[in-house]
Amino acid sequence: MAYWSLFLVLGGFMDTLSNEELERFKVLLTERYNALLEELRYRERSSIMENQRETGAELSSYANHPAEAASDYANLTMNLNLAERDSKYLKQLEDALMRIEKGTFGVCVVCKNAIPMVRLEAVPTANKCIECKNEVKKREQEEAKHSLS
Ligand SMILES: [Zn+2]
Repeated sequence: MAYWSLFLVLGGFMDTLSNEELERFKVLLTERYNALLEELRYRERSSIMENQRETGAELSSYANHPAEAASDYANLTMNLNLAERDSKYLKQLEDALMRIEKGTFGVCVVCKNAIPMVRLEAVPTANKCIECKNEVKKREQEEAKHSLS
């Protein structure tokens, strides 16, 4: 990106988000980030404890209860999906905080226009405006369709 366009972006961005608003988002995102991190650490600790408990249990019990083994598997995949979603969100929060530091928070990464305040209020981690988000989504869906055929 050329320097002059960066200035335009920053100029436009200053009009939409005041320092107080930025500070408010920073506090909000930091709180969410810490809470989620805490939650993930807690879950990790309890799953380690769970594993220790299970390795102590008789291994033959699995063979005797196939239904139980199946539900354990379902639980495991559910936890993995949950963990994947959470770590994705953690990364999004991290990115949003980074954008605050860099002064690009609230600017669409695709079209470089300011993201409307209402959208940021609803989704503080948003890095695209609605139009660009829909555009990217549409393209992804089309690409998925093409790769299938
Ligand atoms: Zn955009």
